[in-house]
Order: sequence, then C-alpha cells, then structure tokens
Amino acid sequence: MKAISLPSRSLIGAAASVLLLALIIGACSRVPYTGRRSVVLLDFPSEVELGAAAYKEILAEEKIIPEGREAKAVRVVGRRISQHTPAAWRKLDWEFQLIKSDSVNAFCLPGGKVAVYQGILPAMGTEAGLAAVLGHEAGHAVARHGAERISGQMLLSLGLAVADVSLSNSEHHDGIMAMLGLGASLGVVLPFSRANELESDYLGGIFMAKAGYDPRESVAVWERMSTMYGDQPVAIFSTHPTNRKRIERLGEEMPTFMRHYRRSKKQYGKGITLK
Ligand SMILES: [Zn+2]
Repeated sequence: MKAISLPSRSLIGAAASVLLLALIIGACSRVPYTGRRSVVLLDFPSEVELGAAAYKEILAEEKIIPEGREAKAVRVVGRRISQHTPAAWRKLDWEFQLIKSDSVNAFCLPGGKVAVYQGILPAMGTEAGLAAVLGHEAGHAVARHGAERISGQMLLSLGLAVADVSLSNSEHHDGIMAMLGLGASLGVVLPFSRANELESDYLGGIFMAKAGYDPRESVAVWERMSTMYGDQPVAIFSTHPTNRKRIERLGEEMPTFMRHYRRSKKQYGKGITLK
C-alpha cells in the first residue's frame, strides 16, 4: 500500500500565499473622491459594530454636554456634514457628541461616531470652522481608516483572526482600541498616518463645501490653531502633517472645494459665530 505523503512545507506556504493574495484582492476597496485603493479585510457591518461598541465604552467614561448652544451647533453642523457624505455613509446612525474637557481634540470612530472635546471650540470660531473639523473627522470614517489600520495589523501578524475583531475579546481589546485611533487613557487620540490625515482633510473640505459651509474656513481654522497654540503639544497636532503642510495642501485643493461649494443647495458662508 502506498503511503499518503503530506504536502511539503513549501507547498503549504505557496497555498497560503495564494489564499492571502486572493483575500487582499477581494478586500480591495476604493476611497470615495480620492479613488485610492485600500485593503480592508473587515466587512462593513463588523466595522460599524466595532465603532459603535468603542464609542459607547468611551462615552461612558466622559462627561457629555447634552444641551446648550455649543452642543447644538456640534449636532446641527454634524448632521449637515453626515448628510453630504456618499450614499452608503449617509444611511449610518451618525452621532455627534460634545465632551466636557479642555483637550484640543476630536475623533471619529468607524460608522460615523464622532466626539468633539470642548477645548477645541475656541479655535473653531464659527460653524464653518466646526464644519472643517467635523468634515475631517467624517473623512476618517468614509475612508475607513480605522478598519484599514486593523486590516494592516491582521496582515502583519495574522495572529489577530478576523473572527476575533471584537472589543469583547479581552486579549485584543487594547490593541483594537489603539488601531481605531484611541489610546488606553481616554482623551488620547492616536495619530493616523500622515497620508490618512491629508486624505481626511481633502474629504472634509468636500463634505463641508457640499453641506454649504465656506471651505476657505478650513484654512482659517488651521491658521487660528497655529496662532493660538503655536508649537505647544496640542493633541490634535500630534498627527504627522505639520500645520504648514496641511494649509499648503488645502490651498491646492481649494478650487475643487469651491466648485462643490458653489453647487451646494444652501450656502451658510461661515454660519453662526460660536462664542
Ligand atoms: Zn484626523
């Protein structure tokens, strides 16, 4: 009787590589507006679920400001922004909460769960300034940067099985939170890559313009931030691109934003003043 020979190690390796390649090709998605190809191994419903769970966890530890002029502005501007994202994102259950904190920061989790820390508002100045920041945050959700980072980690280690991407898995909990852009201590938002940040700036400029806010305020916001905080280690600056680089890029992209702005149904200009 002939012995059954096991496939050689190299054959298994080759098969695994082919499988992995098929997985990557199958998981290739395109970022709206920029057209960039990204590898996202996480399916959209799982990504949205993960974002919602992380959001709930964070908000439970923070003091939410439910009412008042500022909280209302965050909700109103946020809703207008979310309604001008691509169709698949418009359907999501977006949330825009204002958190009582001096931190100069804001974040967005997958699926459109956005939080704004009160400390960032003085630099916003107007509704349009706020729209620039909320648009940028919405950009991270639409470009699926959180899921992309998780996918990159999955490919690197493969130790994090697709099925294990859940916050209830205590072994991976902190790692997943970090990959979503959240540090172990609350209020710490870890930077995405420089390319991801610039991509979000671009998407944000489009969303704010389509929502009817003057996109030139996006440049004004970063200039105000520079004037107000200079080189201080402010949380939202911990992202890689320098203010100068962001302002330069936004300037280059302004003709595109202005085209969307001129076509928008409503034009609020700078909107109401926040302070
Ligand atoms: Zn960002």
